[in-house]
Amino acid sequence: MRQQTLLLTTLREAPADAEVISHQLMLRAGLIRQLAAGIYTYLPLGRRVLHKVERIVREEMDRAGGQEILMPALQPAELWKASGRYSVYGPELIRLHDRHNREFALGPTHEEVITTLVRNEINSYRKLPTILYQIQTKFRDERRPRSGLLRGREFLMKDAYSFDTDWAGLDQSYQRMFDAYQRIFTRCALNYRAVEADAGAIGGEAGTHEFMAITEIGEDTVAVCTCCTYAANLEKAEAGTDPALTPSQSDVTIANAEKVHISQLDQLNPLSQLGSANHIPSQQSHQSQRLKMEFYLADGNAIAVIVRSDHEVNEIKVKRATGTEQLEIANHEAIEQIIGTPLHFVDPLGLTIPVLIDQSIVHVTNGMLRANEQGSFFQNIWPERDLPHAQTGDFRNVVAGDRCPRCESGQLQFFRGIEVGHVFKLGAKYSEQLGATYLDAAGAEQALIMGCYGIGVSRILAAIVEQNHDAHGIIWPKSIAPFHVHVVPISVKDEQQMKLAEQLYHRLQEKHIEVLLDDRDERPGVKFKDSDLIGIPIRVVIGKHAAQHEVELVMRATNERVLLHVDDAVESIFQQLR
Ligand code: ATP
Ligand code: MG
Repeated sequence: MRQQTLLLTTLREAPADAEVISHQLMLRAGLIRQLAAGIYTYLPLGRRVLHKVERIVREEMDRAGGQEILMPALQPAELWKASGRYSVYGPELIRLHDRHNREFALGPTHEEVITTLVRNEINSYRKLPTILYQIQTKFRDERRPRSGLLRGREFLMKDAYSFDTDWAGLDQSYQRMFDAYQRIFTRCALNYRAVEADAGAIGGEAGTHEFMAITEIGEDTVAVCTCCTYAANLEKAEAGTDPALTPSQSDVTIANAEKVHISQLDQLNPLSQLGSANHIPSQQSHQSQRLKMEFYLADGNAIAVIVRSDHEVNEIKVKRATGTEQLEIANHEAIEQIIGTPLHFVDPLGLTIPVLIDQSIVHVTNGMLRANEQGSFFQNIWPERDLPHAQTGDFRNVVAGDRCPRCESGQLQFFRGIEVGHVFKLGAKYSEQLGATYLDAAGAEQALIMGCYGIGVSRILAAIVEQNHDAHGIIWPKSIAPFHVHVVPISVKDEQQMKLAEQLYHRLQEKHIEVLLDDRDERPGVKFKDSDLIGIPIRVVIGKHAAQHEVELVMRATNERVLLHVDDAVESIFQQLR
């Protein structure tokens, strides 16, 4: 490709609203342009990179036995109503009407469509197992479509679905997909990690993993063990038991819980509202003794959760433990209405609503918890003793330094990541709701056992740029670079230089190497800046040594430079790209 006619305008500055570096660089390097928030056009360079990622995904899906199909983006609302998701998906689902006023949705995912398809196409165990996949545009009206391709409202996803006769078969399909994902992300040169995630009510044990590209700007937090391979996202991560928190004999003589006024302890800054973090006098207590109580509405019913005051309640865990679909923090008024008493007069120890106690505090014998009366605290709280009807469990987020739940010897630490892929065991959730069954060998009707597997194809581009750039621009890994080689003659007016450049351009193309020839009549400084910005792995500079048929090879990643005869340069490029 000749740069003179390539649709490529680089930008000196990124627009002010582009916050993350991948968004800035992809705009500046002329890969994408925004049409509306979270909606992008791929310009030729961007399209080429997207094609490469698609190709890797396609090859690995085929290798794993997947069959490619293509399903519509426009989906009848009836399907979503039948699966029950029309009401629960929320405002992310883009809804619309056709000319006959029939309801439709723009697909954010395709479980409903594929289950309906397979219901009609597969009726016998002889056709199973099957893995179907597509690479297709998804629509999600994201709340914050701010980070370029990382969170689009229209974006490209690879979604695959496996169909098996039973869970054992699903385990195998899942592993096949898991392995394919590892190959895909490795080939895309991503620094990633597969982590356990929360599977909700349907996923079963080890029923879902997320693939996280490791970067500081990632929206997801992942806990990893310092000693073993344990890795889980924050929603799911558990802490091992801390031996310091198991009951000891001497605790038995602990005094009764009693209410004390703040002035009896020490004067403290203004107290927060109940339901938010509860300030506890810090001088008189150890961190592990200070407790807080949070109120939630669980499908409309009030519940209270008690954790250490420096811990965060993990709402996913609470939802799971209580079988709740909608969990929201309860405000003051909502709680008073449900309890029927002004909050100030409610005694946290005498609550009649369900109380959940995090396991890390059950054995605390001298806990301090804010009472609901202004300025009052309970001290000597012993949750096990004082809240005998409470449900105990893991209801908090892990924190750095927690003991690893797997090896029990390492500590948990955190990193941030971008979710680039997700594998999930669905089981019979959709097949039962949508009636997708098959006949087994004995002629009995059984529900299909499903898995679903997503990859953010367009998100991968941005994740790669997040991980591969420097102050001058993008540094594309070879496997997905828009071109392999950037041939840059310093002066297009110099006949010798141009002759050599054209020769090289053709020789490389004959070897099926993808070359971009910068044939623009621009100053060398401009050309080099642009070349750095768009980040093609190998640059060949043709300048004053052209008369001797010598060119300079520059590696974008390392800035290594060598002067070579053009024949050797071709050979060297060929070797490097092989
Ligand atoms: P997130 O938590 O980031 O919103 P998700 O859990 O909603 O992701 P899935 O429904 O599992 O994502 O979708 C499969 C894959 O599609 C994700 O792993 C991610 O890589 C990608 N993806 C999801 N939402 C977007 C988006 N708005 N823009 C680009 N890629 C996305
Ligand atoms: Mg999402």
